[in-house]
Amino acid sequence: MPSSPAFLARHLRQRIQREGPLTVAAFMEDAAGHPRFGYYATRDPLGAGGDFTTAPEISQMFGELIGLWCAVVWDAIGKPDPVQWVELGPGRGTLMADALRATAKVPGFIDAVRLHMIERSPVLRARQKETLARAGRDAQWHDDVSDVPAGPAIVVANEFFDALPIRQFERTQAGWCERLVDVAEASEQEEHAFRFVLSPPPEKLHPIPERLRDAPAGAVVEVCPQALRILHTIATRLAGEGGAAVIVDYGHPESAIGDTLQAVKGHAFADVLASPGELDLTAHVDFGALRDVAAGAGARAHGPVSQGAFLEWLGISARTETLLARASPSQARGIRSAKARLVEPDGMGALFKVFGVSGPALAALPGFAP
Ligand code: SAH
Repeated sequence: MPSSPAFLARHLRQRIQREGPLTVAAFMEDAAGHPRFGYYATRDPLGAGGDFTTAPEISQMFGELIGLWCAVVWDAIGKPDPVQWVELGPGRGTLMADALRATAKVPGFIDAVRLHMIERSPVLRARQKETLARAGRDAQWHDDVSDVPAGPAIVVANEFFDALPIRQFERTQAGWCERLVDVAEASEQEEHAFRFVLSPPPEKLHPIPERLRDAPAGAVVEVCPQALRILHTIATRLAGEGGAAVIVDYGHPESAIGDTLQAVKGHAFADVLASPGELDLTAHVDFGALRDVAAGAGARAHGPVSQGAFLEWLGISARTETLLARASPSQARGIRSAKARLVEPDGMGALFKVFGVSGPALAALPGFAP
């Protein structure tokens, strides 16, 4: 029986033969999210033995500080009980477990929160359930953030938006065209089965951000329709029912031109069209576009600020000192290097950004003030 990657490559080839070349988003959607053979459906990709690692997997301090941020927001919105505590794409559940531990002593908070995990991968759902069970908690799982019950909400997302499928448009002499994925004619081999082609100038184009429309020939612009939809759902809800969201990811603070689609396998970059379903496909998040959506939905947008500045503001240096006071020499080395990786500009401190959204009643959010 062929392995799952062969199934996915064959499925994509057949789809292209049937439907014609696919948008980059359709290709990514199947590669990442195919319910049986997709990347996330078939594995836990995180950690040293996987393909990539993330801030909560690097240090417990990340989830702890995000947890305390959530408790401060809860206090600022009048300690609603219940409050929906929502995490998008929780991976192994590590961030939430660390956040629960850090907020256990905040009076009333833990009893007020209802946990909602937005996760489509059955493998990661099971992993999250185990992690939360060890922390003595249960949650409700949903496929989509629009399924979370009504009420004030505090929303967390780390490295979720970068995994959502993007469409790519290229400026040509004939106008804006869409980049599509076609089968490569010459080769039947899985690794070289696909290639990029350009659509003819389409009759109806997904809107390109206003400030980029006059980009020079050759420029690539990326649009992430799902990110815009999901953020619109969150912002509309926060505007109407109160609460806040904290979104951490790599990306650019303003909409910009550039091809940022990337594939990672075993902690190294790989060819984006090779072995669909076996690679982590991501793109930089366009925080400028998210800010416009938040404002359009009647919510307040905050930032983005750099992850380094945000974590320093929340007190990562003091937390590091507390952990060091109880650490063995080898633990101390690990704590120091993890902290540096999270905050230093040559680690995740500058590339990663933190973006906040709040209901109109919350004028400021912790970590975003200058
Ligand atoms: N936040 C975690 C994991 C990041 S990996 C961490 O920081 O470690 C991306 C996560 O988003 C995974 O849990 C993946 O299964 C989930 N995911 C990706 N696309 C999704 C979608 N469309 N809907 C719901 N979850 C999705």
